[in-house]
Amino acid sequence: MSLNIHSISPSKVIRGEGAWSKSLESIAILCKRPLILGRSSSTKELRKSFKKDLLFQGVQAISLDLNHDCCESDIQKAYQFSQKNNCDGIIAAGGGKVLDAGKLIADLLGINCITVPLSASTCAGWTALSNIYTPDGKFIKDVALKRCPNLLIFDHNIVRTAPSRTLASGIADAVAKWYESSLTSSTSQDGFVQQAVQMARVLRDQLFINGYKAFNDPLSNSWEIVAEGCALTAGIIGGLGGARCRTAAAHPIHNGLTQLTYKNKPLHGELVGFGLIVQLHLEEKNSNSQLPKQAKSQLIDFLSQLNLPISIESICLSNATSNELYKACRFACKKDSDIHQLPFSINEKDLFEAIQSYQSLHTISNIGSK
Ligand SMILES: [Zn+2]
Repeated sequence: MSLNIHSISPSKVIRGEGAWSKSLESIAILCKRPLILGRSSSTKELRKSFKKDLLFQGVQAISLDLNHDCCESDIQKAYQFSQKNNCDGIIAAGGGKVLDAGKLIADLLGINCITVPLSASTCAGWTALSNIYTPDGKFIKDVALKRCPNLLIFDHNIVRTAPSRTLASGIADAVAKWYESSLTSSTSQDGFVQQAVQMARVLRDQLFINGYKAFNDPLSNSWEIVAEGCALTAGIIGGLGGARCRTAAAHPIHNGLTQLTYKNKPLHGELVGFGLIVQLHLEEKNSNSQLPKQAKSQLIDFLSQLNLPISIESICLSNATSNELYKACRFACKKDSDIHQLPFSINEKDLFEAIQSYQSLHTISNIGSK
């Protein structure tokens, strides 16, 4: 067996009701002058309260807001700001892109990293990976980090207040782990990878069972299972299974679609969910089995229940020209794209045709009846 180096998990995870206030002592051990990084104006007050709580522990935090997504200019700015202020830790409090930016800055500076996801929209609080975007949200690349965060704080009281749309997006991103890893990694001889793929299946089943209830009732046990499944368990699967386990077509399609211009930009998981439908469509075209077709119709029903986009129209691209969509497909099919991990060959023309089939809900019902 070849040598494998893993970053599987944060050193410590504190989760549940009131996790933030229970974490203050652990934070004080990790740093005395951290930078609290965030972005959204809706969570600004919360981040201010974090700063006050830390002061009672003798931790003098300073704060900085990112202007954009996890992009070079924001990372540069935060890197220099942290250096100038002798910060000895980063506390990234926000959605996936804030968490990705915080992890990367801590990695570059060689200081401790604490992630505080404020929604369950991705597993970015867990992983040793950051996605880099342009300031206007076009995916550029992902960067492997030296390690997972030192501490992850998943406070149910806080995450529960996030918009339900972020949970739905997290569910789409987490179910993708099964559809993508089973396609690229089910023949792997590596026990870790086999176990990660099975864990992805169990997680998908739990999300299918509990997702709708969780989406509608944040006070339910289903919500706890689903929110932690999306933000935490999905991260373990990536850590255990490694890069090959992470993506097949849905994520590369997401990366391609981020290259387009949106009036209302969809969330990461919303585009990944749409990418999954297209991935299953491609599988259907390239296999004699009925299974991809059945899986696709099951997935479309599930995503619809969660109000997730299932068509070009519902990802706000109904005005995109064929040229633009083709550009997204070209990006998704770049030479070094993970889309080529698919067990069949694919080019931008195949992908473009597949995506075109999902123009609107009307065209999808036509596909369903065929
Ligand atoms: Zn993702």
